[in-house]
Amino acid sequence: MKKIIITIDGYSSCGKSTLAKQLARKLNYTYIDSGAMYRAITLYFIQNRVDWLSTAAVVEALKNIHLEFALNSLTGLGEMYLNNENVEHLIREMIVAEKVSEVAAVKEVRDFAVAQQKKMGVRKGMVMDGRDIGTVVFPHAELKIFMTADIAIRVERRFKELFEKNKNVSLDEVKENLELRDYIDANREVSPLRKAEDAIILDNSNLNLENQLQLVMQWVEDAIMAHTS
Ligand code: C5P
Repeated sequence: MKKIIITIDGYSSCGKSTLAKQLARKLNYTYIDSGAMYRAITLYFIQNRVDWLSTAAVVEALKNIHLEFALNSLTGLGEMYLNNENVEHLIREMIVAEKVSEVAAVKEVRDFAVAQQKKMGVRKGMVMDGRDIGTVVFPHAELKIFMTADIAIRVERRFKELFEKNKNVSLDEVKENLELRDYIDANREVSPLRKAEDAIILDNSNLNLENQLQLVMQWVEDAIMAHTS
C-alpha cells in the first residue's frame, strides 16, 4: 500500500501524540514528536544558561546541539537524545514546559528544527505531530489533521498524566501553562500555530480513543486512495 505523510497539529494537550502513536503502530509508520526537539533545545539552553533573546548566543549554542531520535526496543518508540544523552524524561519536566514556547518562537531555533524535520520525511510512512507540521514542515502532506478539545478537558487529561508520573503540580499550574503556551504558539511571528487550509479538524472533547482511531483510520484510507493513481 502507498505510504503517506500524516501531520497532526493543534493546541497543547489535545492528545496529538496519543493519536500519532496509535496511527504509527497501526500503519507501521515512523512517529516523530517534533515538540520533543523544541523541548530538548530548551533543556540545553536552561542547562547551559543560554540567553535565547540574543541571536548571537542562540546561533552559537545551536552549533553544539545534536538531536537524535533512537528507538527504544521495548516500547518500539523513538526517544529524544540530546548530545547522545537520553533526555526523554527530563524534557517533560515543568521547568522545560514553562520555557519551551518562548524558545520555540525564536526564528533561528525553528530554522534549525524544521530543517531536520523536513529531512526525516523523505521516505514517507511517517506521522509527525506539532504546531506547524501541516503548514510549514510538510505543506504537501497527504493527510493533515488539526486537533482541538475543550480547555477544561485538556487540563484534566494533562493533570492526570502528570499525576500518574508523580509530578507534583496543581490543576491551576497546568491550566496556566497550557493557556500560556497556546497563546504564545498562536501569536508568535514565525510560523504560528494555524490550521492548514486543507487540514481536517478533529475535536476530540467527546470522543474516546477507540472511536477517534476508527474515524481517523477512515481519513487515512481516503487519503491513500486519493493519492494512488
Ligand atoms: O508538543 P509539545 O507540547 O511537546 O511541544 C512543546 C512546545 O514546543 C509547544 O508548546 C510549542 O511551543 C513548541 N512546538 C512548536 N512547533 C512544533 C512542535 C512544538 O513550536 N512543531
